[in-house]
Amino acid sequence: MSASYLNPKCKARAKSSGGCGVFAIMSIQKGEIVSLWGGDIVAKDRLDPSMPRFTQRVLQIDEDLYILTAEEKEPNDCFNHSCEPNLGFTGQIGLVTLRDVDAGEELTFDYAMSDGEPYDEFDCHCGMPTCRRKVTGNDWKLPSLWEKYEGYFSPYLARRIHTLRK
Ligand SMILES: [Zn+2]
Repeated sequence: MSASYLNPKCKARAKSSGGCGVFAIMSIQKGEIVSLWGGDIVAKDRLDPSMPRFTQRVLQIDEDLYILTAEEKEPNDCFNHSCEPNLGFTGQIGLVTLRDVDAGEELTFDYAMSDGEPYDEFDCHCGMPTCRRKVTGNDWKLPSLWEKYEGYFSPYLARRIHTLRK
C-alpha cells in the first residue's frame, strides 16, 4: 500500500546516469494528473537533513511546511528536476502535465516551482539550452520563470510572486 498516487501511465526506473527517474510508458495528454504525494506534514524545525534519502523524501509545500514521504521508497520519490520540464504543480502535492507527453519521455518538474528554501540545492546537468546550471531555493524569484510557469507554481510560491509583482 503506497501513501502516494502515481498515474498508471508512468513508471519509475533506474537511469543509466545513476539514480532513478519517472517515465511515461504511454502517451499522456496535457493537464492529466501524474502524481499526488502522500506522507507526513512536518514543520521546518522537525526536518532532519541527515536522514537517509532526505532530498528524495522531502518537498516544501508551504511557508515552513514540508511533506515527508514514506520511509519505504516509492516511485513518486524519483521525479527529477529539469530546467525545461513537462510537469507543473496543481495544489501543494500534485503534478500535472504542462503539454502532451510521448511514451518514453522522462517526467520532470522544475524545483523552482516548489522550493522556496535552500534545502535541496545542486548543480544542474539537464542539458537544456535554458539550463540554470545551479538550482537554488531562490530560483522562484526569477521573473522569467513567473511567466513560463504561470498557474503551475506551488500555491505558497504563487502567493509570494503575487506580492512581489504588485
Ligand atoms: Zn538544468
